[in-house]
Amino acid sequence: MNRAKGKEIGLNTIEVVGTKIDTRHYIGGQRVESAEAFTNTSPIDGSFLGDICRGTQKEADLAVAAAKAAFPAWAALGPKGRGVLLLRLAELVEENIETLAQLETMDNGSLLRSHRRGVMPRVAMNIRFFAEWAINELQHPDFETRGHTNKISWDPSGVAVLITPWNAPLMLATWKIGPALAAGDTVILKPAEWTPLSASFFADLTKQAGIPDGVFNVVQGFGKEIGAALVAHPDIARISFTGSVPTAKVIARSAADNLTPVSFELGGKSPCVVLEDADIDLAVELAVEQYDNAGQVCLSGTRILVHENIADAFALKFKEKALQIIQGDPRDEATQIGPQIHQVHFDRVKGFVDRAKESGANIIMGGEPNSDLCGLYFRPTLVMNPDPTSEIVTSEVFGPVLCLQTFKTDEEAIAMANSTEFGLAAILVSGNKERAERVAKQLVAGTIWVNCFFVRDLRAPFGGSKKSGIGREGGNWSFDFYADVKNTVVSPNGWKE
Ligand code: ADP
Repeated sequence: MNRAKGKEIGLNTIEVVGTKIDTRHYIGGQRVESAEAFTNTSPIDGSFLGDICRGTQKEADLAVAAAKAAFPAWAALGPKGRGVLLLRLAELVEENIETLAQLETMDNGSLLRSHRRGVMPRVAMNIRFFAEWAINELQHPDFETRGHTNKISWDPSGVAVLITPWNAPLMLATWKIGPALAAGDTVILKPAEWTPLSASFFADLTKQAGIPDGVFNVVQGFGKEIGAALVAHPDIARISFTGSVPTAKVIARSAADNLTPVSFELGGKSPCVVLEDADIDLAVELAVEQYDNAGQVCLSGTRILVHENIADAFALKFKEKALQIIQGDPRDEATQIGPQIHQVHFDRVKGFVDRAKESGANIIMGGEPNSDLCGLYFRPTLVMNPDPTSEIVTSEVFGPVLCLQTFKTDEEAIAMANSTEFGLAAILVSGNKERAERVAKQLVAGTIWVNCFFVRDLRAPFGGSKKSGIGREGGNWSFDFYADVKNTVVSPNGWKE
């Protein structure tokens, strides 16, 4: 394995896979240093990538002041004026797909080939889509009330603070950056401390695209430090957060003091329901996909619920296919699953599996670190018929750990599917359209995929039910959050001309 090492090539600059990365914050169009730093390592092999500035209250205040100062002019540009710059930014992302893909893989250990072919092209699309949506689609027909005309508009709202996770750093950030900037808000992005690199490089691209200073800012550091300082700030207009439920609760408490609107996309423990009439090969294919990104996907259908009559056949085929998964260096073309993001997270995943073992769970595949690879690689794991009340069934593990449970009737499957505190997504596999429609209607989740997985259209609403989130993103739903939605009611009376 090549060592995945970054190197410090000067004060505040590191080089990672040949790309220079500024380790400072990006505030008001300038690079800003902090007194303290934190060390960033690669999950591929634990090697040192660089020391990154560790922001505090001071940098949070600076970033909010810069974003606030830049807001009036950015808002005044209008969707078309902003669109020209955002479309240029999307082009720059496209020109830098290879660099972004390499950086992100080094930083979060996800597959290089999927960063190249799927994720980074989508980053560009996220920006382009929302810029174009603001120009072409964001409108509501006027309507009359007793001769008065109602005119609906989506006005810029102010400074949006975006707090993002490490599992798909730039992809998830641009789901927020795209609509926030297109709506006319100015932005402060705080990426996760385990994946600071792509955000820093992206900041350089916003500068190149001509996005005015202060419109887009990146601050680096820990959630409990600069993250907490940002979300408690009285001068911000929106908080959009993707991450865990406990952190969301802390952020919600801070937001409450200022009544700052929040949008939360949180965890999941999604079911993958395989009805008796399902195409078993399709069901197996979809179920095995749930190991993607080493299980570090909030949408993953980690609870495989299979009708008892087909469970043995399903488990056999599943195991056959899952045992062929190639785990290894995410930079290798053949690799299908890479490492966990960080030692802390790896220990957390292993802890769940160890406790399941101790309580007598039947682990029929995996269940341990991959001894052929050093470091953070955990084997794809299947827990057979675990106790439905055990934590491996009810909590989000966020690793390559799936549970297989059986049911007898559709009603039982629906009850099991809906039995956790989460409701982000559900996968349903059935050979019968009416039956699938009836079951899908009763599943509680923001997205239901029927005989498919991960089909995501930016025009569609995306978000979680129950503890999986607050609000929806996508199409107008994104703008409903980032913008101030306004109704101007114009009377037919009182005009002089
Ligand atoms: P995970 O447990 O998966 O790392 P978190 O929800 O803790 O997920 O982290 C997601 C993002 O939230 C990260 O950018 C992290 O720095 C940030 N974060 C963590 N704690 C706080 C906090 N108290 N206030 C603001 N942001 C936070």
